[in-house]
Amino acid sequence: MQKGVFDDFVREVMQSREFVAPVKGDQTKEVQESFFTDIKDPSQIEIGQLTYFPIKYYFFAKKEVLFSFHKNRIEEPEIDIPERVFFGLRLCDLNSIKHQDTVFLNNGFRADPYYQARREHSLLIGMHCKKGDDHCFCQSIGLKDFYDLMFFDKDEHTYGIDVGSEKGKAFVDEFRRFFEEKEEGYITPEDKVTINTFKLDTTNIKNLWDNEVWSSLSEKCTACAACNNLCPNCHCFTVEDEVEVGDVTKGQRVRKPAACLVKGFTRVAGDHVFRDDLVGRFRHRIFHQLEFFRDRYGETMCTGCGRCIRGCPAKIDWVTGINTAARKQRGGQE
Ligand code: SF4
Ligand code: SF4
Repeated sequence: MQKGVFDDFVREVMQSREFVAPVKGDQTKEVQESFFTDIKDPSQIEIGQLTYFPIKYYFFAKKEVLFSFHKNRIEEPEIDIPERVFFGLRLCDLNSIKHQDTVFLNNGFRADPYYQARREHSLLIGMHCKKGDDHCFCQSIGLKDFYDLMFFDKDEHTYGIDVGSEKGKAFVDEFRRFFEEKEEGYITPEDKVTINTFKLDTTNIKNLWDNEVWSSLSEKCTACAACNNLCPNCHCFTVEDEVEVGDVTKGQRVRKPAACLVKGFTRVAGDHVFRDDLVGRFRHRIFHQLEFFRDRYGETMCTGCGRCIRGCPAKIDWVTGINTAARKQRGGQE
């Protein structure tokens, strides 16, 4: 695609679909950091950096009404999702959607109908990033190619575009006049490289379970759960009944994201809390990201975006903590 036609392309797509893309936050408004939103004009798009907020809430709602009830009558809501094109996703964002697909669609149980509806009405377009920032470490993880289309910044005038699925191919066919066919191999392995200067040592994580690093890392943690909320992969949820004041027979059952850093996450009947100590909760989150998910599904859940470090108010850098602990365990050898 010639860069000169990109804005026209976006405008044409917007005639039939929502176009969700990264935009800058506004220091004068409530949301001050960058995020994904349904844009109204291509000039809003900001692809220069990873968004502060993750894409996940477009697929996994902050509040999902499962059904409403009144006495013994139950009513399920209609699932009405617009067609959406998501543009400007990084490979880490895309892999986090892949992981959510694993949990909500492909885990051997019935697919989650709410998540499924959102995914079926979505087209995922990535924008390859050549160089990470001070907090991301995707090259330590080994992300997979997962997209309908992926844009690569070929040169000053051109985007190279890789088609990753049948859905992506149908989309290109629909907007054919903006695309130009190229020979096989036009996107080179060099085009696909991302350079991270920040790295995670993944060689010995299993052996760090009893390491003192968890106490030192969690010392400053306030259990605010920003890390859970900002992580594109954290997907745990809770289910609650919200009843009307003055009439408990009327209300709705809702699903909301839940955060494992918060003490109440493992509270059960009888007021027992399984992970009562913050050290255990902190360690659990990291082990779920780096080990437990992979044990179950064969892939590391963390996609190395660094949002949990960037957004932590206590500035807890668990990657450097793990690297130092792993190095010490090897006797200080690199
Ligand atoms: S964002 Fe930082 S302070 Fe907040 S719960 Fe996570 S690790 Fe703790
Ligand atoms: S654990 Fe942190 S670095 Fe890993 S995907 Fe979640 S927010 Fe990104």
